[in-house]
Amino acid sequence: MDTPAPASRLTADMKIADLHLHTRFSDGTYTPEELAGHAATAGLDAVALTDHDTVEGCAPMAAACAARGVEFIPGSELTADLDGREFHVLGYWLDTESSLLRVRLAEFQAARFQRIRDMVDRLNHKGIGLTADAVFAVADCGSPGRPHVARALVEGGHCRDYDEAFERFLKKGRPAWVPKVALTLTETIQLIHAAGGAAVLAHPGLYRADNLIPGMAAQGLDGLECWHTRHSATASESYARTAERLGLVATGGSDCHGMAKGEPLIGRIRLPYAQVTALKARRPVAAAAA
Ligand code: AMP
Ligand code: FE
Ligand code: FE
Ligand code: ZN
Repeated sequence: MDTPAPASRLTADMKIADLHLHTRFSDGTYTPEELAGHAATAGLDAVALTDHDTVEGCAPMAAACAARGVEFIPGSELTADLDGREFHVLGYWLDTESSLLRVRLAEFQAARFQRIRDMVDRLNHKGIGLTADAVFAVADCGSPGRPHVARALVEGGHCRDYDEAFERFLKKGRPAWVPKVALTLTETIQLIHAAGGAAVLAHPGLYRADNLIPGMAAQGLDGLECWHTRHSATASESYARTAERLGLVATGGSDCHGMAKGEPLIGRIRLPYAQVTALKARRPVAAAAA
């Protein structure tokens, strides 16, 4: 009879992670405490918080994860410009005290507040009686964005639901769309590295720009988010092969925004922990020590 593998060995082998999550500190609806609770319930061993343009939720999330025995990775999702198009870059193991990072995030957040005012102006010109303060009240955070405008439009009775708000007003090219101030892709990757982090291109399946991925990899990316709730199984496998070919770590995350988009997505992506270890080794400090 075969000797069963020790339980500890099995558990270690099966460790899983979700590297893309949002809280109320940006456009998610969960508090860090709620998110950590859902992470534990979903059986996740490690999670990263990747709120847009902020690391404010990282300290409370670290404490909430520690209380539940879940490993926590401090991160953020930054917007980068490449030839006039927006791409999202995830930074992991960021030094949240880095003064350079803090200065940059403060600039991004200030630009977000101004962008909300500009979007509301455009809506007002379309006859929609929304105020910027109504959006800021819905957002109630330092990193307000289009999802908060969408929620304010629904709450004000101007749109039926969140999706209609994006379709009618907020999507790129629609009347209230305003481009975001962003660093270039190279600057974004450099900022993440300067703050001690590893840089990963988020949800490549949402850009229709697969031809640009090799060039982005050459700018210093460490990983590619191959598994994402909006990637088909076929797309995910294809991105995993792309990552392998380009020397990038294949990562994944649910991009859970709590209840913001209907149903919570946490638990849908179960990234093998080996990918977390591989990504961690790509941080500048780890690479320098190797
Ligand atoms: P912002 O950072 O203000 O440009 O908002 C970007 C966020 O809006 C993304 O992270 C998504 O959460 C959400 N979003 C972007 N496009 C859409 C869309 N077409 N429908 C619904 N949500 C969207
Ligand atoms: Fe978001
Ligand atoms: Fe994103
Ligand atoms: Zn996200």
